[in-house]
Amino acid sequence: MNILVLGAGQLARMMSLAGAPLNLNIKAYDVGTKQVVHPLTLHVYEQDLTASIAESDAITAEFEHIPDDVLALCCQSGKFYPGKNAIKAGGDRSIEKALLDKAGVNCAPYQLITERAHLDEAIAKLALPLVIKTCQAGYDGKGQWRIKADSNVDEIWSEMAAFIASGTADFPHTIIAEKMIPFNREVSVIGARDKQGNTAVYPVTENEHTNGVLTLSIASDMDAGIQSQALDAFNKLSAEMDYVGVLAIEFFDVDGELMVNEIAPRVHNSGHWTQQGTLCSQFENHLRAVANLPLGDTQMIGPSAMINVLGQADIPKEVLTVPGVTSHWYGKGVRAGRKMGHINVVAKNDRELGEKLAQLAHYLPEDAYPGVAARAQLLS
Ligand code: ATP
Ligand code: MG
Ligand code: MG
Repeated sequence: MNILVLGAGQLARMMSLAGAPLNLNIKAYDVGTKQVVHPLTLHVYEQDLTASIAESDAITAEFEHIPDDVLALCCQSGKFYPGKNAIKAGGDRSIEKALLDKAGVNCAPYQLITERAHLDEAIAKLALPLVIKTCQAGYDGKGQWRIKADSNVDEIWSEMAAFIASGTADFPHTIIAEKMIPFNREVSVIGARDKQGNTAVYPVTENEHTNGVLTLSIASDMDAGIQSQALDAFNKLSAEMDYVGVLAIEFFDVDGELMVNEIAPRVHNSGHWTQQGTLCSQFENHLRAVANLPLGDTQMIGPSAMINVLGQADIPKEVLTVPGVTSHWYGKGVRAGRKMGHINVVAKNDRELGEKLAQLAHYLPEDAYPGVAARAQLLS
């Protein structure tokens, strides 16, 4: 079976790796170069998007910022999953918030901003501090402002106004203000839904971000209350969108109450631990769903961790001497802070996971791999 993935980055690459044993051939469409490429070798096929759509049995995406013309072509074929509405909700925070409200899922209180008066309303209604986000463009915490009690609101507004004004009819720039949530921690849930509406949901993952970028994920014992709230949000949102494929939902945990931060209509960085931590990874389950195959087992094999490799060309090879540790590289050129790869760790129990993380902390310096040593201590 042939599957076309929109986007030719690491997520398409890992789908390709997961698809091979299932006899699924994955091609990737790079929306920047407008080329159809092999997701592992980046070999360019002599084939345009239309021809690639025609030969594909299913089409999916590894990201949500898909040009309208490309999305329209794929949707017209009737083979595109998870569907236009899901991609639109993932790519525009105003659509996303409307979806969350419609599905009755709790999220951070917000206010859309297109003029200065809306910002003043947001400050009055939501109270400082606020997180301001661009609706269409952000990832890895980019395209955000923070307004605190001592911030110069006029100055921040002039930056925001310039950003809004730089939008065009085709690519409008809009902005949303969110209440700054004093969360205890961040968690996410990843799950798959197939064409018949069956679902398979992974255990909730705890995530640590550094400067807005995910640095560490931990999947271990999660209390039942959190798990059931996350499952409820997954069920409501995936049903509302009649979703097919893997859906990720990021939450703030505020004293045991989950509040959605954002959704991603795709496989997600906080689900990379499922490659070794479960029998059927998020990549395989996504492909199974879009290829109309039965969903796979999402049970955790053992407590797991995922450490992102950011801006590093290599890791000390001793990392691989730690039992249960694997490394995953994306084949990308090095740039400061860029997601280059990740390290997965699987253990038998929490204490063993703590021991393995403590061993890894010897080889992985704290400044490049924040949180590993601290988490090791927490678990042991
Ligand atoms: P990505 O898509 O790569 O996860 P993003 O650019 O879409 O990132 P968000 O997830 O919206 O960004 O925000 C990045 C991080 O900033 C969050 O994980 C959280 O740590 C913090 N953050 C975002 N919104 C809020 C909020 N309303 N209150 C408190 N912290 C927030
Ligand atoms: Mg995001
Ligand atoms: Mg996020």
